[in-house]
Amino acid sequence: MSTLRFKVVEEASNRKAVHVEIPSERPAAYYACKVFTRQKMFEYLPRETFDSLVNAIENKEPLPRQYADSVAQGMKQWAIDNGARHYTHWFQPLTETTAEKHDGFVEHDGKGGIVETFDGKLLVQQEPDASSFPNGGIRNTFEARGYSAWDISSPVFIMDNTLCIPTVFISYTGESLDYKTPLLRALAAIDKAATGVARYFDPRVNHVYSYLGWEQEYFLVDEALYSARPDLVLTGRTLMGHESAKNQQLEDHYFGAIPSRVEAFMLDLEIECHRLGIPAKTRHNEVAPNQFELAPIFEETNLANDHNMLLMSLINEVARRHNFRVLLHEKPFAGINGSGKHNNWSLGTDTGTLLVAPSKTPMGNLQFITFVVNIMAAVHRHNGLLKASIMSATNAHRLGANEAPPAIISIFTGSKLAEILDRIESGDMDEMVRMVAGDKQSVSINVAQIPELLIDNTDRNRTSPFAFTGNRFEFRAVGSSANCASAMIALNAAVAEQLTNFKQAVDSRLDSGQQLTHAIFAELKSLIRQSRPIHFDGNGYSDEWKAEAARRGLDCETNVPVIFDAYLRPESISMFTSTGVFTERELMARNEVKWEMYTKKIQIEARVLGDLAINHIVPVASRYLQVLLDNVYKMQKLFKNGLGEEMTSTDRSTIQRIAHHNKTIVDEVTRMVNARKAANVIENEREKAIAYHDTVAPCLETIRHHIDKLELLVDNEMWPLPKYRELLFIR
Ligand code: ADP
Ligand code: MG
Repeated sequence: MSTLRFKVVEEASNRKAVHVEIPSERPAAYYACKVFTRQKMFEYLPRETFDSLVNAIENKEPLPRQYADSVAQGMKQWAIDNGARHYTHWFQPLTETTAEKHDGFVEHDGKGGIVETFDGKLLVQQEPDASSFPNGGIRNTFEARGYSAWDISSPVFIMDNTLCIPTVFISYTGESLDYKTPLLRALAAIDKAATGVARYFDPRVNHVYSYLGWEQEYFLVDEALYSARPDLVLTGRTLMGHESAKNQQLEDHYFGAIPSRVEAFMLDLEIECHRLGIPAKTRHNEVAPNQFELAPIFEETNLANDHNMLLMSLINEVARRHNFRVLLHEKPFAGINGSGKHNNWSLGTDTGTLLVAPSKTPMGNLQFITFVVNIMAAVHRHNGLLKASIMSATNAHRLGANEAPPAIISIFTGSKLAEILDRIESGDMDEMVRMVAGDKQSVSINVAQIPELLIDNTDRNRTSPFAFTGNRFEFRAVGSSANCASAMIALNAAVAEQLTNFKQAVDSRLDSGQQLTHAIFAELKSLIRQSRPIHFDGNGYSDEWKAEAARRGLDCETNVPVIFDAYLRPESISMFTSTGVFTERELMARNEVKWEMYTKKIQIEARVLGDLAINHIVPVASRYLQVLLDNVYKMQKLFKNGLGEEMTSTDRSTIQRIAHHNKTIVDEVTRMVNARKAANVIENEREKAIAYHDTVAPCLETIRHHIDKLELLVDNEMWPLPKYRELLFIR
């Protein structure tokens, strides 16, 4: 009898909502109370130090060394006043999570006691003993030092009584070993390139910022049920489990009432987010049962990304207080939707103009179209790379299934914007130029009227991986567990490269005496023509699109380790090196890490499934087989003359089926173990990952198929693991 399963199901279904301590003040009063904001810097730092720090932050310069001690002093005081006992450099290695090494503020006082100290050296730079983080061969073990250095553009904060200092993580020789370093480089590149182009329209522009508004999807599972599923605990997804008779087909979960246990959790999470300065705003149910979403107000990309990384730690912590476990995996359950993380992305100037939004003036709209067209050209040129930037062993389960964008990058513009682009491509140059100059007589493409045209934005296409949504682009292929920086690095760098090329082309036309609007229109025309293949407003889930995309020359590769090759194509290397985002050596090292991570993920899943199949499932199925055999044997003893045969025919067919599934499972596990052994001796990381993809991963599917069949045959009382119908419905 499967007592553990029934015990945990009972425990989970009797659980009540946990009481949440609601602060007596309004959110504005406690918002960012755990963050060392400008206001707090002003309170805790000497005036000169404050000015110098703010100046460094605003001009993206390093903090002058002579002020580091003074900043550290003030920061420590604020942290101690707010209950902190430790500090840590908080960084984002290539593992998709964050890393911390905590140190106390304590130091000997020389008199047998201790003092609480913290100085500029500890703040600005550390050498974490981090030799075991993935580095793709950049650091040999004898040169295991890596440096972490404070990113002053991201404010320090207190989490769990620890002062957390957002830092970059680089090797002794200066190569990036994290996501933050290249992200900051990509943001600097887009700032420079986009400012150059934005100045055609407004010479007062000094900086362009990249904005990110992420939408985090996740699943909740009761913690007792979670603990009874070793696959969830060890891999983050269910490696087996037959579909529940009811799942998402009634679509009753989406925007349905939020269960009270979940509501309490969400409230708690929102309060914690606000204390940490994460501007959480939207929360709702998602399509699948037990699936939810949280979205903040968009922010500057580096900060938004830190906030997403922070959220991913916070959500785990808060969930546990409510006896839940959060699943950030892209596909925790087969047969129902997986989770993504839409990256809403736009560009804006320091003069307050959103560059990817229509404007009220003809010139403003020409600027809008200029940026849209350049973005389309960049996404077209680097579509394979952008796909690689969001690809992982876990996200591969989601993309291409009928719920998420396909593994092909295309852009949805909506019919109105498409119409405008068409008219520019085929329009009469002089007429367009006159029109932008305000000549109302000739309205062949009325760029001035774009705002009205775009108001009707209701036909948003949910099947597109990269959609224009009125004032931003929404990169929807990003995985729920991913560090958004990966996508943001590739996107911002690619657009920076394109804008730089665009400016060069326009400038050379200006040099040869062309008028500005004329030069811009001429370049736009040719870019629109060139990047046509990336534009697709149809159904991205259809098979026709896959065929059409291949005809258009878009990257249609589906083999994950091969998709990563896109990082090492000549056009990617040239783009990343010319924008200063990655050196070739960094790119090569990071791909080694990607292949290695892929292999490890599949390897772990294969081991877990092998164990579960052989130790949990096959023995239970055999036991049930015994019951049936016993029954058949006795019935045939009792009823003679063919009657026994007839009365046991169903049982005998079940026996046959169970025996068949059991044997297939054991055979497939053996095949999988052998495939692993063969793959493990391959030295080249890329080849090894491909072997795992081609020979190990398919076994996971076959084994699962047979286990799921057994789940339907074996006595429910005996089945050892919580079933989908038990995992997926929080009461
Ligand atoms: P959806 O309809 O896609 O669910 P939401 O209203 O949930 O959209 O918002 C999605 C996200 O887009 C939010 O984080 C929001 O702040 C962000 N967003 C809105 N405008 C912009 C913009 N111009 N740039 C970047 N992000 C934006
Ligand atoms: Mg969205």
